[in-house]
Amino acid sequence: MSDAAAAVAAGPGACAGCGTELGPGRLSCPGCGRLLHADELRRLAAEAAAQEAAGEIGDALGTWREALLLLPADSGQHAGIRARIEELVKRGGASVKRKGKAKSDGRNAATTGIGATVLAFLLKFKTALFLLLGKGKLLLLGLTKAGTILSMMVWVGVYWRAFGWPFAVGVVAALYVHEMGHVWELRRRGMKAEAPMFIPGLGAFVMLRHHPVSPTEDARIGLAGPIWGLGATVACFGLYLATGAKVLYAVGEASAWLNLFNLLPVWQLDGGRAFNALTRPQRWMAVAALAAFYVATRDRMLVIVLIGAVARGFMKAPDRPDWRALATYAALAGALAFLLPSETGWIGR
Ligand SMILES: [Zn+2]
Ligand SMILES: [Zn+2]
Repeated sequence: MSDAAAAVAAGPGACAGCGTELGPGRLSCPGCGRLLHADELRRLAAEAAAQEAAGEIGDALGTWREALLLLPADSGQHAGIRARIEELVKRGGASVKRKGKAKSDGRNAATTGIGATVLAFLLKFKTALFLLLGKGKLLLLGLTKAGTILSMMVWVGVYWRAFGWPFAVGVVAALYVHEMGHVWELRRRGMKAEAPMFIPGLGAFVMLRHHPVSPTEDARIGLAGPIWGLGATVACFGLYLATGAKVLYAVGEASAWLNLFNLLPVWQLDGGRAFNALTRPQRWMAVAALAAFYVATRDRMLVIVLIGAVARGFMKAPDRPDWRALATYAALAGALAFLLPSETGWIGR
């Protein structure tokens, strides 16, 4: 009889190794340190190794992340698997090229995933808009004049009257591109997020199953949304310049604003995830960059982001710097602010 089978035979109440009474949800015995899911962990490790050998890196990442769920966070095995995951992601993650049949299977899975995400997104959009306005209102009222909120309402109203449903569809599409940035990054890292995974436009997604293995991973996933969102914004303005269709300009403006709002370094917003990976000195560097962008653009949304950044400058921060997160964050904030000059944007009116 194996150790784990013995543990099962002993019942959920006591450790098979030392007889210590076990509470529900425990991953190891507090008495002797025995892992309570040793059999399943061995099976997962063998499965992950086979998937790695077959070049199915995305699947291997998913399997390793399943194993993490069965290990105490402070155990050596947990640290070892976290390191393995970071190593596999560094080597390209799920985007590593596969051979032959496996490749087309992967593409089919991706297509199915995208379809499911579209559906979940459309179902959630109404709630999301409500949440966005609710949270945004609270924050803006606290930090700036109430007139700002009014001008936003006026701006939405004016554009809606001018362009009607094409404007609404355009904004939904732009938000969708932002969310797909997160989805792409999650998939690349073999992370499973069960629907509903996003509050669209806010980036506050709930991962029900797998969790980021490090603040750096969290920052990459968080910033993937605004990176794709910036792409959608640039595409809107580019198409406007090419076609002269004013609705595209309006959608681009809304997209730039929503993505910049998401860079607020608070809560579970994308900017908050990026700041989780920054040391205190790095946070003050971000403050300096945001201040410089404000001087250059006078965009009022930057003031709100700046206040959030200053607050985070005094809060608990990691010791290890993440320069890529800082550079990406600053580049995104700068690009979005320059695309949203106060002379044309609603927030400056
Ligand atoms: Zn024990
Ligand atoms: Zn986001």
